[in-house]
Amino acid sequence: MKRITIFSPNCYTYGAMIVGGVLKERFKGKYIIKLVRHLNNNILNLFLKSDVVILSLYSTLHILDNKLKEIIEFVRKQSKKRRDKNIKIYVGGPVSAYPEIVLREMKVDGVILGEGEISTPNVIEGHREGLAYLENGEIIINELKEKPELTSKPLIPDDIGSQNIRGANVYIETHRGCLGNCTFCQVPRFFGRKIRSKPLELVLEEVKEFKKKGVKRIAVSGGTGSLYNFKKDVNKSAFIELLEGIAEIVGSRNLSVPDMRVDYVDEDILGAIKKYTIGWVFYGIESGSDRILKSMKKGTNREKNLYAIQLAKENDVKVGGSFIVGYPGEREIDYLLTKDFIVEAELDDIFVSIAEPIPKTELCNLVIKTPLEENLTFKPHLGNYRRFNLTESEARCLDLMLHGEQWKPKPSVITKSKFLLYLNEAKRQGEDIRNITRLIFKYRDCLM
Ligand code: SF4
Repeated sequence: MKRITIFSPNCYTYGAMIVGGVLKERFKGKYIIKLVRHLNNNILNLFLKSDVVILSLYSTLHILDNKLKEIIEFVRKQSKKRRDKNIKIYVGGPVSAYPEIVLREMKVDGVILGEGEISTPNVIEGHREGLAYLENGEIIINELKEKPELTSKPLIPDDIGSQNIRGANVYIETHRGCLGNCTFCQVPRFFGRKIRSKPLELVLEEVKEFKKKGVKRIAVSGGTGSLYNFKKDVNKSAFIELLEGIAEIVGSRNLSVPDMRVDYVDEDILGAIKKYTIGWVFYGIESGSDRILKSMKKGTNREKNLYAIQLAKENDVKVGGSFIVGYPGEREIDYLLTKDFIVEAELDDIFVSIAEPIPKTELCNLVIKTPLEENLTFKPHLGNYRRFNLTESEARCLDLMLHGEQWKPKPSVITKSKFLLYLNEAKRQGEDIRNITRLIFKYRDCLM
């Protein structure tokens, strides 16, 4: 039997599992489908035994991964030497939103575009709809407009129980799309702004299958949690039934709902989060400055953010908040407003990211238009942290992580090892974002 191997770097993403499930169903008896997540010699042998290798890539950094590029090169060379096998290598996943960059940077046979349920089997059958590829040096993009119904079953790997993504074994997708329009986010551009939800009975069946395969902790992902089955108003009962159903299977101590928009929660929803999950909510706050929130098209403001945090606390739900620093145009005063917000909010946990220009988002265009000497992720920091040789974004990232620790309801001591952990995290983020920024500058003509 022929083989298809799907490689999803470091973790089995839900998208890769769904594509695996669709291919298994469609090509029963014709192909053996295998999902892998770690690059090692066994995997290399598996690639060489395969007829098709699909690289399911979810970060721009994967396109820059030299080890992955070397492996692609090796597999192609080996394949050319053989008469019996011509191994096709395709890229799929969220990076397929910018096939021009993928095809110029990685020597693959094509990029499987958009949501993979329809395009992947098409491409395996030899069709070109849903595929971008190079022909005589020119990029051909055959987009598929059709959006799939969310009814496919995932292919669940046997070692899924050993996976740990921020405390959960798996992030399941209950719906796609987001009503929001945040400039830095790929979700509405990739999945659309209309919410498509998986029927409840299918979600619950899936959760049972995950449990059978050894999964203990489940997180609900997909846009923003409470938009599940969103019609005109928030369909609260659908979201609450969803949590109740999953908690019945895995137990409320094993269920979390990471992403929530502050304008789509209320007492009932927070009450259900308290009752059926680990009792945490995570809001995308992003900034304490209304000017920056407006520039991000976040659709919220400082007041709404503080209200949602207060509401969570009143319902005895712990609150985490994520923040973005180094957004184009973020002045010192905007950053100070974010610090001030954290003092007022007293969040139980905070996550800080340096603004990442994902290709084809509005933020990407904004970064391309900003001269590098004005870009905070390139501009040297001259303030309190100057002896650490940081850029301004890195300094704000480090400073905000330390600040968040000090303004938790129970502040923790910043030990030397914790400081170094945060310092390295800020530097790593800065380095990654600079590499991505250089990449988008290289391809700015096809991105703008
Ligand atoms: S609300 Fe969340 S998922 Fe929706 S566009 Fe904004 S960041 Fe993306």
